[in-house]
Amino acid sequence: MAQIEKYRKEIAAESVTNKDELEAFRIKYLGTKGLLKTIMSEMRTVAPDKKKEAGQLLNEFKLFVESQFEILQEGLSGSKPENNDIAQIDVTLPGTALPLGSRHPISIVQNKIISIFHRLGFAVAEGPEIEDDWHNFTALNLPENHPARDMQDTFYINQNPDWLLRTHTSSVQIREMEKGVLPLRIICPGRVYRNETISARAHCFFNQVEGLYIAENVSFADLKQTLYFFVQEMFGSDFKVRFRPSYFPFTEPSAEMDISCLICGGEGCNVCKKTGWVEILGCGMVHPTVLENCKIDSNKYTGFAFGMGIERITMLSYQVKDLRLFSENDLRFLKQFTSAI
Ligand SMILES: [Zn+2]
Repeated sequence: MAQIEKYRKEIAAESVTNKDELEAFRIKYLGTKGLLKTIMSEMRTVAPDKKKEAGQLLNEFKLFVESQFEILQEGLSGSKPENNDIAQIDVTLPGTALPLGSRHPISIVQNKIISIFHRLGFAVAEGPEIEDDWHNFTALNLPENHPARDMQDTFYINQNPDWLLRTHTSSVQIREMEKGVLPLRIICPGRVYRNETISARAHCFFNQVEGLYIAENVSFADLKQTLYFFVQEMFGSDFKVRFRPSYFPFTEPSAEMDISCLICGGEGCNVCKKTGWVEILGCGMVHPTVLENCKIDSNKYTGFAFGMGIERITMLSYQVKDLRLFSENDLRFLKQFTSAI
């Protein structure tokens, strides 16, 4: 007991002027080989009947040493800081830069497509990704058991009544036509779904922009001129364009539009499958049945429609060879579009 009282006096008399001295104090009294540990190890030699009293004494001593350490520590930080501390804060240094994100390439191209058609007077229309059978298939002249439905197998959320993930944004065109406000000039961007095997050229979801123009006396010439304007604004003028006859249930006549391959200049490469041509969109005159399904007089009104996959346009614009890159969220890929707007 007398010994501990002596230590108390010794410790109370200690003072420190810097961090090194504080650390020396800590090691001397509180360290793993310090005074406190040494005294504690001597507890073993105390007679059993004195153990309780000695333990209490030791505990108080421990608290005393710890509080002394804290007092010295506070005294040090409360006094004038050392030169080292000042050197750590240099207010003239530039701040930590926050990393800026960039637009996704699909968004970049989608915005560009929207702005091109915007200049021709097309307004953006949007609709739900979960659709009923009528808006996705039947109203578009794709009745139940129509063989063309096979090409657009999708994911069903419910059957009888059918609720499904839309296979195209044509469903938005139906919804807009049903409103009965004519003339109608819209583009419908959005995500669509198909039950397809995922590969470098196909995915179970992708993005589309579809367009629709309905008024009196709209002709196939209007369609061609609109699309000529689009491809020139999108890709420049250093390529050829062709229309190929095609089939879609919702348009008649129907066509697919190709441009000469931008990668090989029409010579033939892997991207164009050695043909020199790349398909970029499908189009045609809106089928009279579709107009009538939406209660539009097909004798008075005509219209054209077109649709394209944004992934396809983006791959051509930026020479991306694998469609899966768009949805893998790989920063090494996405960072390459930082400067694009
Ligand atoms: Zn090519």
